[in-house]
Amino acid sequence: MKKYFSTNSRFLGIFSASLMTFLILTGCEDNSDSKITSWKSQPTNESITAKGKFIPVYEPALKAENRIEENLWRSHKLLEDFTDEMNDFVKIPRDIKVISKECNESNAFYDRENYTIELCYELGVEERKMFSDVGDSGEVLDNLLYQSAVGTLFHEAGHALIAVLDLKITGREEDVADQLAAYILTYNNEDKDYLITVSETYSLAAQRAESLDDLLFYDSHSLDAQRAVNFLCYVYGSDPKGFNHLIGDELLNKDRAEDCEFEYQQIVDAWDFLLGPYFKNNLDKK
Ligand SMILES: [Zn+2]
Repeated sequence: MKKYFSTNSRFLGIFSASLMTFLILTGCEDNSDSKITSWKSQPTNESITAKGKFIPVYEPALKAENRIEENLWRSHKLLEDFTDEMNDFVKIPRDIKVISKECNESNAFYDRENYTIELCYELGVEERKMFSDVGDSGEVLDNLLYQSAVGTLFHEAGHALIAVLDLKITGREEDVADQLAAYILTYNNEDKDYLITVSETYSLAAQRAESLDDLLFYDSHSLDAQRAVNFLCYVYGSDPKGFNHLIGDELLNKDRAEDCEFEYQQIVDAWDFLLGPYFKNNLDKK
């Protein structure tokens, strides 16, 4: 079974760092003139019970082209691996179903009302076409599609955690959700391949735009090309020496790359802090 991170050890160190930050922040509350009367602090790890879990559900596809993606995802245990990882990683207050299904559109969502992550077979169909068009086939193609779907699921996990844990974020939620995917998929070196594949998916999608009119500047998501560059930046930022080869003129240029290590560290620090109280086993293993 594919593991996105093999131990929780990363989360051991950070919890104490998060706790330090928490203590420093709450230490500023003694100004009685302050208009801020209820500073909502982070919950403590002990106060949170893991009542919920992520639950995988494959809905059967009816259309033949969608059934190909259903079979790929089922045979690679896509939803099982993803939900296992999330359940090992973080405590959530209620169940969240992770459903693969036919949607009649190429997309993936987190549904705040029904507490479901939904991944459409049509998204797999669309990505299969994009990668096939540039010559990928067979097992290589299947692997790219699997990796890309994993990246999408962790992006949706970002939306889900923001909602059910009521996490406070600044910046657009779509960018923050991409950053959760990057945070998780840069823990192990081998998982960074996943993020590079996700970047490739967005890069291929970006190449379909023929004119400025094709770019959705109003959209809540960053442009496909920006998302492609961001993911490369985060992988590079996680290990500049190891991923120096990602710098090039086409996507991640030198100017952007200069700040990637700092950008990446900000993301790690922020998610460590936001999720610190919800990590599983982080105190038990000390
Ligand atoms: Zn999203």
